[in-house]
Amino acid sequence: MPSLTRFEAEARARLLRVDRYEVALDVTDPSTFTSRTVVEFRCTDLGATTFAELKDARPDRIVLNGRALDPDTVDGNRLPLAGLLAANRLEVTFTAAYSTAGEGLHRSVDPADGATYLYGQAPLDEAQRIFACFDQPDLKAPITLTVTAPPQWTVRGNAPLREAHDGHWAFEPTPPLAPYLFTVLAGPWHVRTAEHDGIPLGLLCRRSLAPQLDGDADALFAATAASFDRYHELFGIRYPFQKYDQAFVPDFAGGAVENPGMVNYREELLFRTAAPDYELQRRFVIMAHEMAHMWFGDLVTLRWWDDIWLNEAFAELMGWRVAAETGRYPAAAAGFVVWRKRWGMLADQRPSTHPVAPDDVADTTAAFLNFDGISYAKGAAALRQLSVLLGDDVFLAGLRVYFERFRFGNAALADFLAVLGEVSGTDLTGWADLWLRTTGVNTLRAVSGRVEQHGAPLRPHRFRTAVYDRTGTVVRRGDVTLDGGSADLEGDLPAGAVLLLNAGDDTYAKVRLDAAGLAALPSVLPAVTDPLARAQLWTAAMDATHDGELPPEDFLALLEAALAGEAETSVLVEVLGFARDSLAGRGLVPFGPLAAICAAGLSAAKPRSGRQFALATALTTVAGPAQVALLADWLADDPINVLTDAPAVETGPAGNPGHPGHAGHDRADDVLTRVTAGPPGLVVTQELRWQVLGRLVALGGAGEADIAAEERRDPSTGGALHAATCRAARPDAAAKADAWERIVRDERPRIALAAATGFWQPGQEALTDPYVERFFADAPAMVAGRYQLFAMLLVRQAFPGTPADR
Ligand SMILES: [Zn+2]
Repeated sequence: MPSLTRFEAEARARLLRVDRYEVALDVTDPSTFTSRTVVEFRCTDLGATTFAELKDARPDRIVLNGRALDPDTVDGNRLPLAGLLAANRLEVTFTAAYSTAGEGLHRSVDPADGATYLYGQAPLDEAQRIFACFDQPDLKAPITLTVTAPPQWTVRGNAPLREAHDGHWAFEPTPPLAPYLFTVLAGPWHVRTAEHDGIPLGLLCRRSLAPQLDGDADALFAATAASFDRYHELFGIRYPFQKYDQAFVPDFAGGAVENPGMVNYREELLFRTAAPDYELQRRFVIMAHEMAHMWFGDLVTLRWWDDIWLNEAFAELMGWRVAAETGRYPAAAAGFVVWRKRWGMLADQRPSTHPVAPDDVADTTAAFLNFDGISYAKGAAALRQLSVLLGDDVFLAGLRVYFERFRFGNAALADFLAVLGEVSGTDLTGWADLWLRTTGVNTLRAVSGRVEQHGAPLRPHRFRTAVYDRTGTVVRRGDVTLDGGSADLEGDLPAGAVLLLNAGDDTYAKVRLDAAGLAALPSVLPAVTDPLARAQLWTAAMDATHDGELPPEDFLALLEAALAGEAETSVLVEVLGFARDSLAGRGLVPFGPLAAICAAGLSAAKPRSGRQFALATALTTVAGPAQVALLADWLADDPINVLTDAPAVETGPAGNPGHPGHAGHDRADDVLTRVTAGPPGLVVTQELRWQVLGRLVALGGAGEADIAAEERRDPSTGGALHAATCRAARPDAAAKADAWERIVRDERPRIALAAATGFWQPGQEALTDPYVERFFADAPAMVAGRYQLFAMLLVRQAFPGTPADR
């Protein structure tokens, strides 16, 4: 089935103006649904030929301008339309199977109570599975939806309900919508409603998750309200759609999708137990990200998929910004640096990197490849640098003009840059060429009173610097505008000081400390009070280690010295993850010392803090054979009934717990013995129990009987996924063979993904080495018939990363 090419989309956009869709769905039959679409559209060229699209559906009736067309003329997903008039009316009725793979009209049966749930997932070109349409982003039109469903169900769409009776639901017309932003929900959904500033709000989830949603609803509504307020201030344009529902849906492929008026999230974001601060921060950022799309993406939509990066980079930038500026997560910018920006930088240093703004997105299928760290994180960092260059006020003023000018229409990168250029009086062509049309990350290096830029191409950078003395106090700040290879810095450095370039994360570049700065880092880093500066210092150390300029054991020493001083849990989690995955996981340092550092941090962490939970989780992932008994104890203790009355994990920033004392590597067992006595107040949530069990299984300290027992304890969808991950982690040839079969062929995409998550384990190379070759042989079967978004996640997760590094 050919994917729509850019050439075809441009030709069709020149030819057609779509005035309106009427979509009628009947979902009363549990095995198939029927879809009837009436689309009214104008054509600029009388007698011209074009096509509409419908995928994997059997058309029952096609009528164009009163003339019945033979359903057999449909070729693949294309319905040829000939002899067009100035004004046209196309009616298409089809019957199709529900999707079980997450795309189109997805149907899911809740294992908890057998209830059926449907939701629409249209990106990028799956709307045509739900209704016949011109499936490209720049043919926008109002959509009026009606649904016939079992009368006891709840049905929601992008627009508010107009009326409902006896199993029939009729919705208001939407504002002009790109087909990929259409959605519908049907089923016995649990619904909570509220209102903020005149905007009706809703939250939805499966009925069996109602207690979780009810426990979280106030916080979710408050986060939504705070984000709306901030966007209204920043953008100066009110929320442009009629209501704002947010649904947590099962079997969801991505994190969330920004359907106007009806955002769908993966339901794992509805936490089953009290969540630690860093998880709540991540969820807030995702919620704010989706809301940013209501303006950037939904109100003004990209013209073609080559601008997906701009859509995502903008939402990424705003999500983190709003998390901080609502006052909810003042240090959110630190999380962006260590988590997201490093993701972008690592992607940018691989042979597979690509320009932020690619010019070769020839068809819709190719567009999927750009949902990556370059588009989201490097793109966001580039936009941030642009706002620093122009000034934030000018950047925001440009956005307002952009939203007004292209309201309910489409725009491309060139339009965005032209508006910013117009408002700022600056020609941005050269900037865009250097920043958006090239690949690679620059390195900014402090060398004897100067800053040097390395890498090709050299780019213009504007950023702030800070000098920290031995006590972590800022003794000097500076501004640098770099327009070439180097620039002079002001003043001499005091002895033992650390000079940090890009201290405010204004630009996108690797930052290198000088030799004196690196040497001073273990004492200075934990004393620095600014979380963003600490995140930059950690990142400088991680980059230097990654690039072979700092020995891995020195990084471990830094971690040991500075862990206690890192109060931002979101930063702590990423730094520990780096030590685990990039150092210990690759055999560059042993796991034992890292386990000891985690254990020491854990024993000093404030009871019930997010920090304590993060360190317990980290310890779980690095524990070795020596800690099997300890981990088993955590499971046996069963300190609380997590499903009924979990005590709240505090959500504020974890306090600085002070230095836990030097835990020498050779004393790891002592430290761990103290932990065995039980970290006071540690909430061993169901999620943590699964983490612990997964590690025990990988180490051979637990087996199938334990997994089955845990599954009985947690009979939820999440439990089934964790069980699949645990089974794949078993150090046993039959278990690996079974897990591989699931990865390659299991029809349930989330189960396949869960198995892939557990499959590759350090220390199991004798068992997994044969699968390195198998991966390349089986990759085509792995993706065959899967929704592209899932296929991409699965291939990345199943890729034999660890063995290939050896
Ligand atoms: Zn997004």
